Amino acid sequence: MEEFEGTILAGQSLTPTRGRVVVEDGEIAAVEQAKTASTNIILPAFVNAHTHIGDAVAKEAAVGLSLGEAVVPPDSLKHRRLAAASHEQLVTAMGRTMQFMAQTGTARFLDFRESGPDGTRQLRAAAAGQSVEPFIFGSGEPGVLEIADGYGASGATDDDFTDHRAAANESGVPFAIHAGEPNATDIHPALDLDPDLLVHMVHATDDHLERVAQQDVPVAVCPRANLTLRVGHASISDLLDHTTVALGTDNVMLNSPSMFREMAHTAKNYDVTAREVLKMATVGGAEAMGLDCGVIEAGRRAGLVVLDGDSHNLAGTEDPARAIVRRAGPLDIRDVILPAFGEWPSEPGLSAYTCVSAAGWLVWLAGSLMITRK
Ligand SMILES: [Zn+2]
Repeated sequence: MEEFEGTILAGQSLTPTRGRVVVEDGEIAAVEQAKTASTNIILPAFVNAHTHIGDAVAKEAAVGLSLGEAVVPPDSLKHRRLAAASHEQLVTAMGRTMQFMAQTGTARFLDFRESGPDGTRQLRAAAAGQSVEPFIFGSGEPGVLEIADGYGASGATDDDFTDHRAAANESGVPFAIHAGEPNATDIHPALDLDPDLLVHMVHATDDHLERVAQQDVPVAVCPRANLTLRVGHASISDLLDHTTVALGTDNVMLNSPSMFREMAHTAKNYDVTAREVLKMATVGGAEAMGLDCGVIEAGRRAGLVVLDGDSHNLAGTEDPARAIVRRAGPLDIRDVILPAFGEWPSEPGLSAYTCVSAAGWLVWLAGSLMITRK
């Protein structure tokens, strides 16, 4: 059993609570109010709701380029770097990105993995032994769902994804899709596919938002990527009025997968409160995919970030959520507590979703807990 004392941002509401978090066998056993002299601030570990870490070999390859120029195959700088990289280089780059994510407080991330089944296998290989766990949206033929956790579609006007949607349904796994990034033309077609997660929605209008609410589809927004690619400015407050909104750092080619940076940018450039941003960075992504992390409450998987509230950077701040979102960074981290996850089981006959849940559950039961110190 371990205890972490300080000001805890507890529950779905992230209410600052003085006391302690009790962790037992990888699970939050209790959140107790208590007198404490600790100046630590304890928040849920982050859930990064949209990434493409497969492009970790092409960092900054899109500087100065439009969306089309940055990602169009086969001649973009990204594709040339990917083509030149060996399997080992790709896996190593993804693994190092995941180490950075763990160091900066991320417990899980929802990754769109390109390159079909090979891409999914590479990310599985990179994730072996890591303390941060990917939720992999595979690509290519529907058969990728035998090894991925869900299907990730590039955009509804890029291809006909009807069969892929149906296959995800049959496998009982989520179907996610980009929509409304450079313009609004693919939003209704994406909604026609009845997705489980929409990514971007920069150009959503009222009729799109009504459908999002009716269909109860969560949305992952990626403000820094939208800025980098100059595609516009999502109306996050409108999205929040209609559905669950989660925060993602998008392609690691464009930006580092630091949730601290994404939160600060969002809080300072959008009409949202610090607490809303922190929810988007934690429980938003967990809720979107039904993950058992992202909230500090008894019974949840123990993913915690412990900040030094008396660091040179944070000393004197009065509102913990505001301090975390607008100001905090990796240098303020004392501990990151992440559950250790299991190896990917290859047992046939189980759906990918079941396999991931079972692996996590077994490791959780076994009481593995990994503490990564800065
Ligand atoms: Zn994306």
